Amino acid sequence: VRLSVPKETASGERRVALDPTVAGRLGQMGVSVQIERDAGLAARFPDAAYSAVELLDAEAVYAQADIMVRVAPPTVAEVEKLPEGSTLVGFFHAHRSPELVATLQKRKILSFAMELIPRISRAQSMDALSSQAAVAGYKAALMGADLSCRFFPMLTTAAGTIRPSKVVVIGAGVAGLQAIATARRLGAMVEAYDVRSATKEQVESLGAKFLDLGVKAEGEGGYARELTDDEKQQQQQALAGFIAKADVLITTAAIPGRPAPKLIPASMVEGMKAGAVIVDLAAEGGGNCELTRPGETIEHGDVIIHGPLNIASQVALHASEMYAKNVLNFLSPMLQDGEFKPDWDDEVIASSCLTRDGEIVHAPTREAIQ
Ligand code: NAD
Repeated sequence: VRLSVPKETASGERRVALDPTVAGRLGQMGVSVQIERDAGLAARFPDAAYSAVELLDAEAVYAQADIMVRVAPPTVAEVEKLPEGSTLVGFFHAHRSPELVATLQKRKILSFAMELIPRISRAQSMDALSSQAAVAGYKAALMGADLSCRFFPMLTTAAGTIRPSKVVVIGAGVAGLQAIATARRLGAMVEAYDVRSATKEQVESLGAKFLDLGVKAEGEGGYARELTDDEKQQQQQALAGFIAKADVLITTAAIPGRPAPKLIPASMVEGMKAGAVIVDLAAEGGGNCELTRPGETIEHGDVIIHGPLNIASQVALHASEMYAKNVLNFLSPMLQDGEFKPDWDDEVIASSCLTRDGEIVHAPTREAIQ
């Protein structure tokens, strides 16, 4: 089977779907790996680093693919270039682009969406949402430190003693926990809050303080549910005092399939310290702060509000290595002796399938689109 890796085309995307090590592993499994020239360059993997793969131009890498593996969603034109009935693996965010789904149907593409891989223990090694969220959380703490006019660590110097920064993290999921760990390593005092009480222990194990605001909202499958209006008000009142004392606020709150909850109104921003920084990791979903402008860094009064997009791409080398491992772990059970044979009784394979034989297999996408 021929497995193709294109050069990513989404604006600002620096990652590549396979790093040289994983490309080599697939080669050993009898797969013919074909990489578009310079596909890994932006992630610092030059063509020469890929051994035993075929380097192709853009046209051939699409036309000759049995399976294509990519990171960011393809364009409609890119799907049109794939052979009818071929397989495509990557992020799709299908509910955002009905036209893309229609093209996958029309071309009878067998598509697997990395974001649909169920978040069960067995599939943890394939979970690209988690691996990329961990990268984003790490980078968010660094962005906060960089934009801040204050040190993170306590410093005792001949020029006086500097108090450590106070970092508040809202949402202690995969990204939030990595942000906490990184801010702690830089010496900040960290406080964190999540509506899932299971996170308390995880926050404390990283040396941060858990803020118990009395609002709990456990949803299905280990996720949070949306808060009622009363709960939102209670949460905001309790949160305001802590946020007023923060030097850096990192927000990561998300509800699967819903816009990011708006937790930080303008009034709360206006109560923050001069020079305080908000890094809104939820910017991709509209932002947790009412004032966030996705993709921009703005100043509101004395507060800097940063709304970064596609953060994982900024740590492109390691983010690509982690993504490639996720892809390898996902594809391996389907690749036997160089042949591609999905076992449709496997829950992980069946649930991550988006389209097959011209049908939308994933029910929520079908309902959202039709
Ligand atoms: P996410 O990105 O959907 O959300 C980020 C965090 O925001 C979550 O912790 C959520 O509880 C929190 N949140 C939502 N609304 C909030 C609000 N109003 N106020 C404060 N916080 C709010 O979540 P995620 O990081 O992708 O995953 C969350 C959890 O799912 C993980 O911590 C884990 O328990 C579970 N998970 C399991 C697996 C697995 O077993 N394979 C993989 C990944 C995640």
